[in-house]
Amino acid sequence: MKKRIAIFGSTGSVGTQALNVIAANPDLFEIEILTANNNEDLLIAQARKYNPNAVVIVNESKYETVKAALSDTMVKVFAGEAALEEVAEFDSYDMMLAAIVGFAGLKSTLRAVECGKAIALANKETLVVAGDIVMQRAVEKRVPIIPVDSEHSAIFQCMVGETRNQIEKIVLTASGGPFLGKKPNFLVNVKKEHALQHPNWNMGAKISVDSATLMNKGLEMIEAKWLFNLKPSQIQVIVHPESIIHSMVQFEDGSIKAQMGLPDMKLPIQYALGFPHRIPNSFPRYDFSRSSSLHFEQPDIKTFRNLALATDALHRGGNMPCIMNAANEIAVYGFLRNRIGFLDMTEMVERTMHKIPFLEKPTLEEYFESDAEARNFAASLINL
Ligand code: NDP
Repeated sequence: MKKRIAIFGSTGSVGTQALNVIAANPDLFEIEILTANNNEDLLIAQARKYNPNAVVIVNESKYETVKAALSDTMVKVFAGEAALEEVAEFDSYDMMLAAIVGFAGLKSTLRAVECGKAIALANKETLVVAGDIVMQRAVEKRVPIIPVDSEHSAIFQCMVGETRNQIEKIVLTASGGPFLGKKPNFLVNVKKEHALQHPNWNMGAKISVDSATLMNKGLEMIEAKWLFNLKPSQIQVIVHPESIIHSMVQFEDGSIKAQMGLPDMKLPIQYALGFPHRIPNSFPRYDFSRSSSLHFEQPDIKTFRNLALATDALHRGGNMPCIMNAANEIAVYGFLRNRIGFLDMTEMVERTMHKIPFLEKPTLEEYFESDAEARNFAASLINL
């Protein structure tokens, strides 16, 4: 039986790499659903190649174009934000790859969980915003959530076979991004062209900026808390510029397991899609005989203050990570449009975290309200 996959965010960096993995394994997987926000040309090309049951183009103004281009096929075409949730309810797929970027991925992922679908989770913001609710529903529905984020995939892989053993802590590795070692007098002048040049990973724009500011590592700490049911004190971040060790788990006997490999997102994507089986592939291998050293250092949280803000949000819990995430999405949006500087992003996030009322145990509706309030306030800071 082939596993039937729905890729939400198929036109993005994770989505396109997932399609490469699926194309290389036609006996294992077939595509049921593909979704895009704006990129109708790529969505149409993907639909013609993979022949899914349905596609969604969120931007409704592009519906007619997509519909016309696929009129000679059996592909059902949907449009609009609500259609994401509608197709997430389809019986015809087994696993959702949640690869939409940002808060926009939350509703459809939650809907898939509620429908009992296995989730391969790339969209970390879903857990950052409403991790308590999403994980609770996943437990109730007995839905496996398999991480795609390379660090969380590494931790997940280290934990296979360790169900009876206690974790002492996890160590999330961070490449440090393109500005490792730089100080504020340098960062004040950097532009998006610099921030988008990640040394080890080729990713979408938002996560590339998040990696440059270290917000990505902050989001990942919160993601890890929910995925692995950890206390904040059990989560450590260490900078490892080579990105060969993707993360580590230290068990109660002090033993440390690491998952290693060349930095290539296809590997964690393939692992999540194929779980519990490993799938043979021809990806380049890490060669110890040709490697030099692996390095580790403490993150510079005085310069990259986003990591300190995220640590604060991790400890405070409630709606604070949701507020932080919303402000960060607006800040990154402003930075990518040259409306604000690199360091202004942190200022915006901090001011928003101080401004929006704290809720200790929000409902889902209150998470949505906090997100909207935080977005509006952050946008007002830069006249968006
Ligand atoms: P991209 O920006 O490359 O792709 C995002 C995808 O989401 C695209 O298909 C895009 O459609 C779609 N999309 C964007 N906005 C919306 C919206 N408002 N509603 C519906 N769909 C939308 O992102 P990445 O692939 O880099 O990242 C996806 C997620 O995976 C993020 O949460 C990221 O943090 C996480 N992740 C990514 C990694 C990577 O290597 N890229 C690594 C680990 C995690 P369109 O193309 O039409 O705009």
